[in-house]
Amino acid sequence: MIIIYIFLILFSGNNKTQRLVEIPIGQQSEVYKLDKLKITIVDANDKYVRAILSDDEIEKVKRLGYRTEIIYEDYTQIAKSQIEKFGYHSYEEVINEMLTVAGNYPNITFLDTIGYSVEGRLILGLKVSDNANVHEFEPGIRFTGCHHGNEHIATEIVLYLLHWLTDNYSTDPLARELVDNQEIWLIPMVNPDGVYHSTRHNVNGVDPNRDYGYMWEGAGNSPSPFSQPETQAMRNNALENKFVLGFDYHSAGAGSDIKWINTLWDYSSVYTQDDSLIMDIGGEYKDSTGYTLIRGWYWYSINGSCQDAMYGCEGMLDYTIETPEPLDSPTPVCEHNLGAMLRMIERAGGVGIAGIISDSITGEPLNARITIGCQDTNFWPIYTEQKLGDYHRVLLSGTYGIKVEANGYKTKVISDIAVSDSVVREDVVLVSNDKYYAHRIVWTYVPNPNDSCNNGTLSFDALGAPDSVFFSIGDSGALVIDMDNYMIDSFTIYEGNDGIADEGYEVLVSNTWNGTFVSLGTHYGTENFTLSETVRYVKIMDDGNGNPDALYAGFDLDAIEVFSILGSEGIVDNPYLMVLHQNTPNPFIGKTNIQFKVGAISRLRFADRGLKLQVYDLTGPLVKTLFDSEIPNLNSWFSVTWDGKDNKGKKMSAGIYFYRLKVGDYSITKKLTFLSS
Ligand SMILES: [Zn+2]
Repeated sequence: MIIIYIFLILFSGNNKTQRLVEIPIGQQSEVYKLDKLKITIVDANDKYVRAILSDDEIEKVKRLGYRTEIIYEDYTQIAKSQIEKFGYHSYEEVINEMLTVAGNYPNITFLDTIGYSVEGRLILGLKVSDNANVHEFEPGIRFTGCHHGNEHIATEIVLYLLHWLTDNYSTDPLARELVDNQEIWLIPMVNPDGVYHSTRHNVNGVDPNRDYGYMWEGAGNSPSPFSQPETQAMRNNALENKFVLGFDYHSAGAGSDIKWINTLWDYSSVYTQDDSLIMDIGGEYKDSTGYTLIRGWYWYSINGSCQDAMYGCEGMLDYTIETPEPLDSPTPVCEHNLGAMLRMIERAGGVGIAGIISDSITGEPLNARITIGCQDTNFWPIYTEQKLGDYHRVLLSGTYGIKVEANGYKTKVISDIAVSDSVVREDVVLVSNDKYYAHRIVWTYVPNPNDSCNNGTLSFDALGAPDSVFFSIGDSGALVIDMDNYMIDSFTIYEGNDGIADEGYEVLVSNTWNGTFVSLGTHYGTENFTLSETVRYVKIMDDGNGNPDALYAGFDLDAIEVFSILGSEGIVDNPYLMVLHQNTPNPFIGKTNIQFKVGAISRLRFADRGLKLQVYDLTGPLVKTLFDSEIPNLNSWFSVTWDGKDNKGKKMSAGIYFYRLKVGDYSITKKLTFLSS
């Protein structure tokens, strides 16, 4: 029995061993043929494809008629040796180092827990800027490492930049200028479980860089768009902080020697509206490093990448930098990239347009969508940061127009803005008008993608007021829209006119972007929907009914309009990852127990944030404060008891009460029923 058991372990172990394999090919187009096998390709050109493969996958490749050459028999072991032999950082070392830097430079750093991995490891982000604890009128730029846990060099490059900026701040004028004028976010380890286990994927076996939700299609074992805590954390961090530019560091793993500046799109061969600008910025990185600049699809196509989603959903110009990973000290590669990274920080605050969008009467900052255009082209829309209402956009010199849209406000267009060699300040005040439309794309899904999945329509044309310009969601495709407000009563979905009217689709609604969606049934064409409760997110799924005569496959979404709203709670559903359980027992006699926790907040950030759990009666007045303190241990459960008495010890009468957990300006409220004492 024991022998059989050992045999099984050996057998399954061997079968699952990850090998780095080179597959010689005759021409670049064969990359796409191999890609169809859904294998993990890490590098490709017109001579070879390199992939991380199990023995089963090697057999699949061979059956297609290809030769395979094994470069590393046990790739996981090679990745581990980076940390053991060559001084690359382990997970624990990265956490300690970030805490140390934040402790040494409290005035120019803000340490945040942007999320937790599947196994509960910290995903830390460190913001480097003057007055780091507040958001100022400054452009944001983000550098991330180790989406793939076995690409250790990526963490090193981001940490190296962190040290350079903080260590040189007081002595080097360039460091001071960059830190004072930009908000620089550094997330050295997006996938800490992967690093801990030396695997490319996270511990759910999902490739994080296929899990992002723009033109997502389920590659890399991703079960649904933004399904993993690591990509959700990255999305929340981007929504909260609004980055102009982003750089995600990768390699083809230990011992590899690739040098790419990979940019948009990964999913399609079509160039983006911002292509000239994107190539110009990438060109600057290229000038500094000598790396090869390429649009992702032309290297090898993938769906669900970070850069596609950051641009597709948020308008952030995001790059994937693929560097060598020496079986030796990482320092030379870090040094080699430093100059380019500094230039990119400078570029984030360079030539362009920036401003603040606010309410014409109250002066309140607005959640606005800004579309900048030049001649006949509209660039990809960007969004304001919600605390200050500011936006920042890098541009090439030229003459531009901007369109500013916000829910509940009249759209404003400003034209003939001349941009030459600096940032043009363009503040805009909007006049309210009680009109509400789809505000942002949360994710989009394209089944069976190929290059033609870019059907010529643009996702952002589903946003804003009905205008007969639409986004075709693709045959059996789907998308989720953030309405930016809690809708009540009813809303209308407008079909775009592609010559075929009344195409079928299912509509679902939810209050959270990745929560449970409730179906409102299958419908055809433009239709009004009645709501029984407030919802914020709308999911539309094409019925897959081909419509072979249609010019564009799938339902054509022109707009979603809502007629009354309950207000907005902000762009991030739950920035502090608070969990408040239903009290037990409930209803209760005598006393009841309430459990809660707070996750995504660092100790440093939490120092000035109190947490309260309070009971209110139905009409609003405070009854009892059950907890009012700082949380000593993050992400651990707390438990309090309520005995039905108010703050003065007086017994309350039987009835329904609310209890609310609150940090800063975010709260969760639940109901309880007190029967009697
Ligand atoms: Zn990678």
